[in-house]
Amino acid sequence: MKHEKETILIVDDIHTNIIMLSEILKEQYDLKVAKNGLKAIEIAKKGGVDLILLDVVMPDIDGHEVCKILKDDEETTEIPIIFVTANNESSDEEKGFSLGAVDYITKPYKPSAVLSRVKTHILLKVKNRLLDDQNRDLKRYVSLVDKNIITSTTNLDGSIIYVSEAFCNISGYTKDELLGENHRIVRHPDMPKELYDNLWQNILNDNTWEGEIKNLKKDGGFYWVKASISPIYDKNGKKSGYTAIRQDITDKKLIEEISITDGLTNIYNRRHFNDVFPKVINSAKRNNELVCFLLMDIDHFKQYNDNYGHQKGDDVLIAFARTLRESINRADDYAFRLGGEEFGLIYKSKDKQKALEYANRIRENIKKLNIPHEHSSVANHITASMGLVCRNENEIQDMDIIYKEADDLLYKSKESGRDRISANE
Ligand code: GH3
Ligand code: MG
Ligand code: MG
Repeated sequence: MKHEKETILIVDDIHTNIIMLSEILKEQYDLKVAKNGLKAIEIAKKGGVDLILLDVVMPDIDGHEVCKILKDDEETTEIPIIFVTANNESSDEEKGFSLGAVDYITKPYKPSAVLSRVKTHILLKVKNRLLDDQNRDLKRYVSLVDKNIITSTTNLDGSIIYVSEAFCNISGYTKDELLGENHRIVRHPDMPKELYDNLWQNILNDNTWEGEIKNLKKDGGFYWVKASISPIYDKNGKKSGYTAIRQDITDKKLIEEISITDGLTNIYNRRHFNDVFPKVINSAKRNNELVCFLLMDIDHFKQYNDNYGHQKGDDVLIAFARTLRESINRADDYAFRLGGEEFGLIYKSKDKQKALEYANRIRENIKKLNIPHEHSSVANHITASMGLVCRNENEIQDMDIIYKEADDLLYKSKESGRDRISANE
């Protein structure tokens, strides 16, 4: 890389002084000269001057005055100024420094001393410029992060000590409203407690937790983020809090939700059932729980459609689904429309007796809808037949086997009079 020479402006009203300084500096620097203060200011303002050697005693405007003008001007204030004078009174020197000069050279001077001082201050200036550039880059970077990255930092208790602008934008809060608050402020009731338990377990053990979280906005709305939460440490290596970096995945989640939701009834569809059921089975194996699968089918629904019309039939399906949704009380219980007028429920239970009671409550809730069905052989309102399979962790088989079993039990309920539940032994 070609090194460009720095430029030094020599200001002196006496020609021989200029010549003497030039002789010392011309090898290593580009030089500019001015024979009076006005000319010096004019040259400095044009730019490209890296340092000024300024004679104090000059006619018209003296060196001190020139220095003051240059320091007051934004364009020239950064140029280091070294005073050159025969006057070696210390009060004069003090005045020069107070006006912003970086150094003082008194005549008579040794050439090596002049060179070394100039070199020092040029070096300082170059370093300062580099630092300024780096500072500017850093500031730009920080503001870029602030605007675009949804990030926050909490202390060990979970109180927020930093939030980015992007965090404020997505949550609808201002920085002032968030700082000092517990991070719980954006916790959404839809998120199961287990998720947070798992999160804390990880970060308390100095691990990074990653996962998808639905968060609560100030206005009651929500947003989804993919979050990565890690412990942070102070300079002594002691844990001081947690930092989270998040990505907005709300749109992705909405599309995902649409793809797993039944369009008519707004509960989960068969696709999601196929996805969720194996996961529930696996987690039950780990947690020693009873997994229950309740398969339901509306009784004489073909007759219902034939007599009341397809539109009315749709309304029944919607009401049926709503009843299921309202009957669910745990975050890891799921209701599905599995096809036509067939529905499914996955839930956990302590024992078979309780599981059966729960299923019966749902059957009752369906009846309580009291939707007239004059052409049913079972009752004068809508009813459903059900098959219930409950398995504990060491009896759990494949999802297809459980499904087939529930289907057989459902068939048994239909055969033996409908509006009833058949459960496995
Ligand atoms: P069973 O008591 O034995 O279950 O008799 P069923 O009439 O309910 O059973 P079947 O399988 O003979 O008929 C199911 C009916 O469900 C036929 C079909 O028109 C209706 N069905 C399926 N999907 C929909 C839907 O999306 N909307 C409406 N309105 N009806 C539907
Ligand atoms: Mg059917
Ligand atoms: Mg049916």
